[in-house]
Amino acid sequence: MRIEVISLFPQLIEQVGAFGMARKAVEVGALQLIATDLRNFAQRADRRVDERTFGGGPGMVLQAEPVSRALAAAHSCAPGAKVVFLSPQGAPLTQAWAERLAAEPAVVLLCGRYEGMDERLAGQVDVELSLGDFVLSGGELAAMVVVDAVARLLPGVLGDAASAREDSFSCGGLLDHPHFTRPREWQGRAVPDVLLSGDHAAIRRWRLKRALGATWLKRPELLAGVDLDEEQQALLREFVAQCRESGNEVKS
Ligand code: SAH
Repeated sequence: MRIEVISLFPQLIEQVGAFGMARKAVEVGALQLIATDLRNFAQRADRRVDERTFGGGPGMVLQAEPVSRALAAAHSCAPGAKVVFLSPQGAPLTQAWAERLAAEPAVVLLCGRYEGMDERLAGQVDVELSLGDFVLSGGELAAMVVVDAVARLLPGVLGDAASAREDSFSCGGLLDHPHFTRPREWQGRAVPDVLLSGDHAAIRRWRLKRALGATWLKRPELLAGVDLDEEQQALLREFVAQCRESGNEVKS
């Protein structure tokens, strides 16, 4: 897929494509990442693209014309590309959004700065996405987050596609189960026996129970949106009972 990020700081965006899974996505040809400098579309000789806000008050605003020109140039390379404006006023970025964007052939990520963009650009935006209820000084970090979250979902990027399917929010809307690695014992704490048993059915049950348990403990509100089958309900009941009994850690 093609992701073009329009920003005042394209060097920041280039960094996300230089490391980890986003880099791998570029290397395997699953992702074409383009960082476009908004100043290339400035109308003024000094290459500025911001102006004072009408109505008075502090802060500058990105002007409509340079942004609109940058979007037109992006669409001339990728007609039909979805335009995402990163904004604290947007819908929360979720795994479902990452999956939706990863299914698109082309996406344009638009990064605001200062007070944001001229409101008249709203009609050129398909969706506003937010990283959370806080205000960043620019959309670049949010765009980098989107690039990373999307890149790892593209075909051929994760070594084992199953690992993305089992991650938090993907596996039936639950959190991921806990993971352990070598050594088998560390600081007097052993890895749960079942994980060393080679009994795949028991391991699957354990993981499902612990995924349900992690969700119940850490993000109980997520369970309201999940339709648990009989096995899941039984495993969750088991986890809750063990948790209440032991008053702390569930060991098996
Ligand atoms: N005046 C705006 C905030 C502007 S912050 C308001 O209060 O709504 C400048 C830019 O940073 C925004 O245009 C947006 O692109 C980016 N930004 C800030 N917070 C963000 C967040 N939580 N998620 C995504 N982008 C954000």
